[in-house]
Amino acid sequence: MIELFDSHAHVDGPEFDADRDAVLARAREAGVKRIVVIGAVGDPSSAERSVALAEADPNVWATIATHPHDVKQLTPAWWAVHERLARHPRVVAIGETGLDYYYDHSPREEQKVAFARFIELARAVNKPVVCHIRDAHEDARAILREGRAAELGIVIHCFTGTPEDARAYAELDAYVSFSGIVTYKTAQPLRDAVPLVPRNRLMIETDCPYLSPIPMRGKRNEPANVVHTAKVVAQCAGLTYEQLAQVTTENTCRVYRLAGH
Ligand SMILES: [Zn+2]
Ligand SMILES: [Zn+2]
Repeated sequence: MIELFDSHAHVDGPEFDADRDAVLARAREAGVKRIVVIGAVGDPSSAERSVALAEADPNVWATIATHPHDVKQLTPAWWAVHERLARHPRVVAIGETGLDYYYDHSPREEQKVAFARFIELARAVNKPVVCHIRDAHEDARAILREGRAAELGIVIHCFTGTPEDARAYAELDAYVSFSGIVTYKTAQPLRDAVPLVPRNRLMIETDCPYLSPIPMRGKRNEPANVVHTAKVVAQCAGLTYEQLAQVTTENTCRVYRLAGH
């Protein structure tokens, strides 16, 4: 059976409280063997829940941080939780962290300071950074360069930049992950960006419960649906589905430093 890796899922969230075990079982049935749960939404209870999920399942790993939307609330107590959990053996990366100038839910200056500080935390524990970047790619690249994040491993999750941004991230040696957005009719520029990502830096994700790919659009997203995203990314990359599955799984294992690449 062809195996996929959902490199970015928010299955710790309340949207999955009623049927989380069934969601994880459906993922396995669909061939989505491995999942990274992103513990970064709202307060650090998201990180705690994600680590608990990773402790309970050998094919689930966690990341921890505070999402750029929420960094205006980041307190010393939150940092203390992150600094403790960053060292946890089931935590494979620091994130999602970054800059979101589309929503501006937190002041840009605070987003930049937190992003740089999370990169420092990643360096302290020698783990990669998972980046959420929206309408802020130039500032993000400057901070990633300044923090020498490429030495740790950079994942640009749910990439929504231009083909030029894809080229610039390739120069930074970043991994670039595509979500269900790549399946949407209006997303041709995103499909055009896929072949500009080096094959050994290509990743896929659901970012569930958000961004369900076609034909599931409008419903709650879940890891099993990464299959639909994989099919479209394979076409754009000029790969068979099987090749795409293998390449993205190897890349995800490599950047998160898991066995299997
Ligand atoms: Zn994100
Ligand atoms: Zn996310």
